[in-house]
Amino acid sequence: MFVATKGMALATTVTGSLPRPSWFTKNLAGRPFSVALGERAYREQYFDALASQIVDQTRAGLDILTDGDSRFDDDFAGRSWFAYVLERIGGMTEPHVSKHSTAAARDKRPGDIMYEVVETRLPPYVDGPVTRGALEYARAWRSAQSLTQKPVKIGGISAGLVEGMTVNRHYKDRRDLIMDLSAVLNAEYHELADAGAPVIQIEEPAIHGRVGIVDDPILTPEFYVKAFNAEVEGLRAKTEVWCHTCWGSPAAQRVEHADLSYAKAIPYLNQLAVDVLTFEGAENDGTDFEVIGKGVAKDKKIAIGVVNHRTLQVERPEEVAALVRKAMKWIEPERLILSSDCGFGRQGMSRLHALYKMVSLVRGANLVRRELGLPEADVLVANPKFALID
Ligand SMILES: [Zn+2]
Repeated sequence: MFVATKGMALATTVTGSLPRPSWFTKNLAGRPFSVALGERAYREQYFDALASQIVDQTRAGLDILTDGDSRFDDDFAGRSWFAYVLERIGGMTEPHVSKHSTAAARDKRPGDIMYEVVETRLPPYVDGPVTRGALEYARAWRSAQSLTQKPVKIGGISAGLVEGMTVNRHYKDRRDLIMDLSAVLNAEYHELADAGAPVIQIEEPAIHGRVGIVDDPILTPEFYVKAFNAEVEGLRAKTEVWCHTCWGSPAAQRVEHADLSYAKAIPYLNQLAVDVLTFEGAENDGTDFEVIGKGVAKDKKIAIGVVNHRTLQVERPEEVAALVRKAMKWIEPERLILSSDCGFGRQGMSRLHALYKMVSLVRGANLVRRELGLPEADVLVANPKFALID
């Protein structure tokens, strides 16, 4: 159900991750978050980093904030997006030496940045039934929500993607592993919803990244829909549920597929039990807005990326506004949410770039809000009253 974006037209947010402050040098290093918070230096750095992320988003004027994925370690190219879960869920053993398949994709050949990214992922073995571990999403959300009155969005990786980063030695059928992982994550998300999280976002990797690209008779799009819906089962009755889709973010890289259109995936994405679907829109200049607007069911809102997480050039507010107007040809402003294509924090850009991309996002939204007679957000960074030079 709609909670965080209820009654809001052109609500603004970012995907999730934000660049980590350089002075945040402490790491969980496999520990539960609650245990690490008992270490004085970790606790101080974590909460100061979180506060800086919340302040930057507030100064930019975003409506829905994130915790910047601050629980993740100072890792290589977004490794913690996977490792945070893999290191904590029961049934997994020591990291397995990473192996690249022989398939002729760019991440399978030395000499490509994505080869080095994959080299660091070290999938663990699954040697027993998977069980809940100390993911502690609710504790991470409370830490961030205690710093602001604005809704804080938090979420994680889906079971379909987690499974792909393991070497299974226990389950006879990969589908059983994915369904067990879905049940484990579902319990975690219910704890988060019961804690009061006003929006939960889960990344969907397997549907839009496989439909029309990977022809697997076992792990079909229909199966991934079933698994995702098991992962979010019952959540919509408690809170607002988002499904995030993108074409990649490790080290700010895009996955390489012949077809980077969402068109074939939309019938499947429509079957997901979520309130909001997110789509990239900035890098592809809104090329899919028409198929998204016409194809996504009316009971869902649509979040589009209007700033790019893969480039350092900060978009002008006028460019953002033009993209929003383009989206509004096919998507009603009441159903439209403005975001980034994906997170800024996977070793892609500096805090400075991320801040000004968020500022441009909101200033661009304000240009369109003015045209529509909607209230504009207060962008403290852009307020001349607070400029340091007279
Ligand atoms: Zn993403």
